[in-house]
Amino acid sequence: MKDKCGIVGIHSKDGLMDVSHLIYYGLYALQHRGQESAGIATHNINYGLNFHCGMGLVTDVFDNKLIKGLAGNVGIGHVRYSTTGQSKIENSQPFYTELNDGFIAMAHNGDIVNSGSLRNDLIKKGYEFKSDTDSEVVCYLIKEEFKNEDDILKVIDNVSQKLIGSYSLVILINDELYVLRDPMAMKPLILGQTGDHFVVASESVAFDVIDAEIIRDMEPGELLYFKDNKINSYILPSAKGSRRAHCMFEYVYFARPDSVIDEKSVYNARLRIGEALYKENPIEADLVLPVPDSSIPAAIGYARASGIPYGEGLIKNRYVGRTFIMPTQAEREIAVRLKLNPLKHELEGKSVVVIDDSIVRGTTSESLVRILKAAGAKEVHMLIGCPPVIAPCYYGVALATKKELIAANLEVEEIRKQLGAETLGYISVEALIESIGIDGDDLCLGCITEDYPTEIPEDLEAESYYDYYQTIKGPTDEEK
Ligand code: SF4
Repeated sequence: MKDKCGIVGIHSKDGLMDVSHLIYYGLYALQHRGQESAGIATHNINYGLNFHCGMGLVTDVFDNKLIKGLAGNVGIGHVRYSTTGQSKIENSQPFYTELNDGFIAMAHNGDIVNSGSLRNDLIKKGYEFKSDTDSEVVCYLIKEEFKNEDDILKVIDNVSQKLIGSYSLVILINDELYVLRDPMAMKPLILGQTGDHFVVASESVAFDVIDAEIIRDMEPGELLYFKDNKINSYILPSAKGSRRAHCMFEYVYFARPDSVIDEKSVYNARLRIGEALYKENPIEADLVLPVPDSSIPAAIGYARASGIPYGEGLIKNRYVGRTFIMPTQAEREIAVRLKLNPLKHELEGKSVVVIDDSIVRGTTSESLVRILKAAGAKEVHMLIGCPPVIAPCYYGVALATKKELIAANLEVEEIRKQLGAETLGYISVEALIESIGIDGDDLCLGCITEDYPTEIPEDLEAESYYDYYQTIKGPTDEEK
């Protein structure tokens, strides 16, 4: 399961030329949101646009010399995990395109559900795409809109009206930073300040590392821009009255536990998920253990509520990157063992409650149960901090196709048997909502309820957005 991307934007109030290293540290703190590529674009008062992208981790892509070379008074940054488009340098961000009087550089977190048709319209108008991502579509839509409209606020509102999906955007138009959160605020985006700099980022952990204070979360459909050393806020007229739909998976899995998103601590939400799991699935056992790292707070919550000791039964190898999709169960087990090694002396002869954040395909959980039992666990009770995932995500989370989602095809008892666990229990939708602490009507719960907050184009419904995107062929020569 992959989320898509982390973004940072920084505006220096007095034209200080030091934003690049702050963006670098912000991206470093957001590394969990994307490890495939990283990029920074800045505006330098003397030289105009500075720009560098590369494949790999933030530390692979940038060194001190490059960061110094990116000196600027305003800039944006991006870390990427692909959900649309392949993992290749052409798909790295920020994207950049020239305007008649300057440039636009843009970085995006989210997925545009209808970008296939928007892309085809742009190709018909003569646009040539360097990448196969939806983010480049948004960049060219802005460029196209500038042909008919000079007012940047109207340009961005007009573009927003064409987009269906999730989008947190940082946009550099020459020396001005514009920041947009989509009308349903699906992806997180937060505003802060450190010294003479205004900062925006996907998560508040990016602020902690550069000692920035949180000012507030951005509102749904809010466009921020920075002028005359002031923050200016503009709610897109087209976004007024729209419902909120914050992605519940940020709290369950994606975000770092030390982040605060839409005023809710991710750590506390996960602690409450653990407590709720105990209320709904009280089990007598010797040990509660997490599948590290994202399930640690929920396992602590379960242990506190139940009085069962919390322990570590699986040790995570932090240096494992992507593993290939393994065709056989034996090979998949090796991949799981590479990441998670059982502590035999902690497990031997014990009945264990294992807390995991979610089950998508079920293959990892199956390997995990087998590994724990092989290491000596007498009983394995799997409890899951997210209700059964029964439908794909179309908003930037590469879950799987419906065919691949185990809970879309099997009942809970059938899944339990397949995993080989003594117990399989999921948190209920109601308890998850309560644990997060946000009204259910303000959350996106599409993948666990099939009630999506936007319309989904018909031809997209059967499969995940990622697979759909691979099939987009573009207009024929005749249509062009
Ligand atoms: S469908 Fe699921 S993963 Fe996708 S945005 Fe909604 S809650 Fe998040």
